[in-house]
Amino acid sequence: MSEITPTEEKKSLNFIEAIVVKDLEEGKDGGRLQTRFPPEPNGYLHIGHAKAICLDFGLAQQYGGICNLRFDDTNPVKEDVEYVDSIQEDIQWLGFDWANVYYASDYFQQLWDFAICLIKDGKAYVDEQSAEEIAKQKGTPTLAGTESPFRNRPIEENLDLFTKMNEGFFEEGSMVLRAKIDMAASNMHFRDPIIYRIIKQAHHRTGNKWNAYPMYDFAHGQCDYFEGVTHSICTLEFVVHRPLYDWFIDQLADSDYRPHQYEFNRLNLTYTMMSKRKLLQLVKENLVNGWDDPRMPTICGFRRRGYTPESIRSFIDKIGYTKYDGVIDVALLEYAVREDLNKRATRASVVLDPVKLVLTNYPEGEAETLSAQNNPEDAGAGSHDVVFSKELFIERDDFMEDAPKKYFRLTPGQEVRLKNAYIIKCTGCKRDADGNVLEVYAEYDPQTKSGMAESNRKVKGTIHWVSTSDAIDVDIRLYDRLFTVENPGDDKDQDFRDFLNPESLIVKTGCKAEPFLKDAKALDHFQFQRIGYFSVDPDSTDGHLIFNRTVTLKDSWSKIKDK
Ligand code: ATP
Ligand code: MG
Repeated sequence: MSEITPTEEKKSLNFIEAIVVKDLEEGKDGGRLQTRFPPEPNGYLHIGHAKAICLDFGLAQQYGGICNLRFDDTNPVKEDVEYVDSIQEDIQWLGFDWANVYYASDYFQQLWDFAICLIKDGKAYVDEQSAEEIAKQKGTPTLAGTESPFRNRPIEENLDLFTKMNEGFFEEGSMVLRAKIDMAASNMHFRDPIIYRIIKQAHHRTGNKWNAYPMYDFAHGQCDYFEGVTHSICTLEFVVHRPLYDWFIDQLADSDYRPHQYEFNRLNLTYTMMSKRKLLQLVKENLVNGWDDPRMPTICGFRRRGYTPESIRSFIDKIGYTKYDGVIDVALLEYAVREDLNKRATRASVVLDPVKLVLTNYPEGEAETLSAQNNPEDAGAGSHDVVFSKELFIERDDFMEDAPKKYFRLTPGQEVRLKNAYIIKCTGCKRDADGNVLEVYAEYDPQTKSGMAESNRKVKGTIHWVSTSDAIDVDIRLYDRLFTVENPGDDKDQDFRDFLNPESLIVKTGCKAEPFLKDAKALDHFQFQRIGYFSVDPDSTDGHLIFNRTVTLKDSWSKIKDK
């Protein structure tokens, strides 16, 4: 037997990975590893799905198995090809690929045939009661349920009704097919679960062929079985469904092969809502600008916000997989993206709220070319030229006329360093009639150019700047968390819309940027010195660049909370 070792160094195996390793070592299922990622195409993928994707595809990748993408399209009411396409794009962007694409609807015939077998074996029946009546008879975990008056219908009658259900003879909700198991079982899922219902709506792949559609519990395990899945991994809420999953497979299997279901904790994040239904509501009610709005927790939202696939995978790796639910601080995700962008983002100087700084002792009409490192964290990243001249733009709040003691930026009489350039001393400012600062004045010290021997003079502050001679105008979208509370979706009596952060998007126009940025392409990453990480929005056009703030340089939320 070959030794099974991960292809990359890893800290320790998560519990599902450990099961996979053991199964492979024991040669279970002929030494095969096959997983699947089974999204329902009823919305865009979110960061929670990324956690499942990293495990399903990651395990197959690490241990020489295969992972298929299977669209769980058993409910035509909510599903659409738009979602099918976006799901594929997002999985590939995250860095994974599937061996095959399948659809649960590919198995509608096999599932139907299996349902017919169950009826013939006396293990399924057509129930004509309403959903409410069926629910009332379910009982409680400690109290047995009540048997349906239709439970002992003759097999022939069941076959006839089930066929007619599918042929469109009956209205939605008028009858269902139920497995006949045990109305007194301690596991509520065994109390004659509904396995087929009537839906009279065109399906995005099978059109109007079917009117009877299988329920999730009836479709999922069987699809796993038809495909040859060995490890069917899902989230913890399915633990209680597992015995039913196994029961159906036992009725179906004609060999020793069995797919097995394993469950891990779903991802919950603070300040984030992940229910697809509510995300759809945000989009439909125009509370955000579509599924890929950079404030959305969707994969396409994160992409547009400037997150990298590496940062998302690294975050998933940090949080790990467990058997108990919890909530992860979104600050950890923000940390992961900072950590990644710090290594890859080109540094640039951009002034968000510009005011003019005039260096009164700098020769009129002259300019010099200085050099700025593209990324101090990456020696191979090189450098770019920066023009320095008499008139520069600086941030309005980097100047204060009557400054408190601990203000280390520009105030009359005080020295600061201009990043990558000279030390300057502030001499004053000019204001308009309303008191607004029009220009700030300073003198530069020619002996203090960055890199010069004498340049080591200590000053407490460094500020960024852009020369007025070649600055380009850009727009900036300052994104922040979409919600103001940690658990916006939790309270059933509260409307999550009451918790929307009114400052989750602030648009700045007329920001001044270094000219080399004009060549930036959509989704390129930058660190704007002293401000944060930014990425080029795909709405940008030639001559009109828009940057999205991915994340600030430091976590400002924990400070706010501690106040
Ligand atoms: P919803 O109920 O909002 O429609 P879902 O969980 O049913 O979401 P699916 O499209 O069925 O969404 O999910 C596909 C896979 O992704 C499933 O295996 C599911 O367990 C997993 N998944 C979904 N949400 C999360 C999450 N927050 N954390 C981890 N895995 C998740
Ligand atoms: Mg689902």
